[in-house]
Amino acid sequence: MKSFTFEASPGRVVFGPNAIDQLPHEIEQLGARRALVLSTPQQAELARHLSDRLGSRSVGLYPHAVMHVPVEVAQKAIAEAGRLGADCIVAAGGGSTIGLAKAIALHSALPILAVPTTYAGSEMTPIYGLTEAGLKRTGRDRRVLPRTVIYDPQLTLDLPIAMSISSGFNAIAHAAEALYAENANPVTSLMAEEGIRSLTRGLPGLKVNPRDIDSRSDCLYGAWLCGAVLGMASMALHHKLCHVLGGAWNLPHAETHTVILPHAIAYNQAAAPEAVDRIGCAMNAPDAAGAIFDLMQQLGAPVSLKQIGMKREDLARAAALVMEAPYYNPRPVTSEGVLALLGDAFEGRRPGSSVGATRAVASAR
Ligand code: NAD
Repeated sequence: MKSFTFEASPGRVVFGPNAIDQLPHEIEQLGARRALVLSTPQQAELARHLSDRLGSRSVGLYPHAVMHVPVEVAQKAIAEAGRLGADCIVAAGGGSTIGLAKAIALHSALPILAVPTTYAGSEMTPIYGLTEAGLKRTGRDRRVLPRTVIYDPQLTLDLPIAMSISSGFNAIAHAAEALYAENANPVTSLMAEEGIRSLTRGLPGLKVNPRDIDSRSDCLYGAWLCGAVLGMASMALHHKLCHVLGGAWNLPHAETHTVILPHAIAYNQAAAPEAVDRIGCAMNAPDAAGAIFDLMQQLGAPVSLKQIGMKREDLARAAALVMEAPYYNPRPVTSEGVLALLGDAFEGRRPGSSVGATRAVASAR
C-alpha cells in the first residue's frame, strides 16, 4: 500500500426517511436560536414548512437562491441575514441553495445546517463558488462546510425524474474522479466505490417508480458518499471539462457532468486501470465507461453535448480553455486527446466504439 494522508471532513449527518423531524433538535444542538431558512423560489413551500417547524427558532425564510450564486444575490442574502440577526443558516434544496448558504457563511462564519434535496453533493464539501460578470470563482474554505446535514429521502420524492437521473450521474462523477485523484487514499476510495454502487442500484428503481422510497434512499446515501469524497479528494479532467463547459457556455450543470462522465473514464482507463476497475466493480460490469454510457441510455439521460446546447464549432475553443489551466489527471492532458474526447461527447458515441475513443486509449499507452 502507498503512503497517504487522510483528512476527514467534520460534520454531523442525520439520515433516513422522516429525518427532517430532527430539524428542531439539530438546530438546538448547534446552539442556534435564530435560523434563516434559504431555498430557491421553486422550493419556497419547503422553506416555509421548515421555518414553521422551527417556530420561534426561525427568523424567517429567504427563497431567492438561483443557479451559480451570482454575487449580487449573495450580497442581498448576506444583508438579509445581518438585518434579521440570524445565527444559523438552514439551506433546503440543491447545490444552488447550499451555494448561497456558503456565500453567507464565507462572509459571516454562520453555521450551516443543510437539507439536500438533490444528489449534487455540495453539502459535504468546503468548496464555494461565486459568479461575477459571468465568471465563476471557486475556492475552498472550512467555514462553508455545513456543520449538520439532514438527508431525508422523503424530501427527494418530487425531484423530477430527469433531474434525479442527471443529478445522480453528477454524484457518480465525483466518486469516479476521487478514485483516480492525485490525493486518493484507501478510505476515500472505499467511500467512492460504495457511493457508485448505491447510486447505480438506486437510479434504475427511480426510473420505474420515482416515488420508491428504497430507491430514493439508495440514491441519497450514494450522493452523500460521493459528495463526501468530492470534499476530500482533488478533481481531475472530468471536472475541469465540466467547469469550462458550464462556465463559458452556460451548459446545464448536472447534464454536462452526465454527458462527459463516460468519456472522461475512457480517457483515463489505461492510465488508472485500478481506479477504473473499481468503478466497474461497483457497477458489476467489466467495462466501466461502456457500462456508464449504457446506464445513461437505459435511464433516458442525455448522452451528447449537442443535445444539451453545445455547438460543434465551439469544441476547439473548449479544448483550448482546458489546456490553459489543466487540473492534475492520471493520463497527461493533451489538446489532441481533449479534442477527441469532446468530439465523442458531442456526438454521444459509446466509449470504445468510436475512432476518437480508440485513438484516445491507444495514445494513453
Ligand atoms: P439546483 O440546486 O440548481 O436545483 C435545480 C432546481 O431543482 C431548482 O429549481 C431547485 O429548486 C429544484 N429542486 C431541487 N430539489 C428538488 C426537489 N427535491 N424537488 C423538486 N425540485 C427540486 O441543482 P443542483 O444540481 O443540486 O446544483 C447545481 C449547483 O450546485 C451548481 O451551481 C453547481 O456548481 C453547484 N455544486 C456545487 C458543489 C460544491 O461542492 N460547491 C458540488 C456540486 C454542485
